[in-house]
Amino acid sequence: MEALKKKMNEEGIILSDTVLKVDSFLNHQIDPQLMHEIGLEFVSRFSKEKITKILTIESSGIAPAIMAANELKAPLVFARKRKSLTLTDDLYTAEVYSFTKQETNTISVAKKFIKKSDSILIIDDFLANGQAALGLANIVKQAGANVVGIGIVIEKAFQGGAKKLQEAGYRVESLARIASLQNGKITFVEGEHYETI
Ligand code: 5GP
Repeated sequence: MEALKKKMNEEGIILSDTVLKVDSFLNHQIDPQLMHEIGLEFVSRFSKEKITKILTIESSGIAPAIMAANELKAPLVFARKRKSLTLTDDLYTAEVYSFTKQETNTISVAKKFIKKSDSILIIDDFLANGQAALGLANIVKQAGANVVGIGIVIEKAFQGGAKKLQEAGYRVESLARIASLQNGKITFVEGEHYETI
């Protein structure tokens, strides 16, 4: 998605060979017009699927996910990163190791918000090793619902998360795919297809 790549080139801050900071449009301040375009792009890529709900994880997945949900006229549910000490019987939970924070969080979703009959599109801001997306997919599985696919705003293709998700049987659609963050620049994967890496 060219508008996203342009924004990443103009405003992304390369913190290391493995971490990109995009706090001016996605992770802290949010660019609503770009988020709107991102939402439309996700809907277009999954247009052949029947989607009843979108699932993301707080907080940075919410902005792109709500735009897609609005277009689909479907509800958005976001997994919480801190497990409530009460009502634990009414929650689906999964353990997720955070790449950026280097800690394990228990993510949770209230059982009443995912039904067996749901067809769910998972959306997240970044894909690194795939832990967050796998945790969300695990929650959908616990509910007996169907994962239609996984939509990612920025994939760091060199970290292998997409491969892991595809091997687990999930369709992954990433709007920008980074081949490398080395030498102080963002190098994108050429083309839109996974065979190119
Ligand atoms: P994964 O679970 O795939 O290993 O990592 C994805 C999660 O870690 C995302 O939800 C995102 O919040 C965070 N993350 C991973 N890599 C980066 C990065 O380079 N920049 C930012 N801003 N977040 C990242």
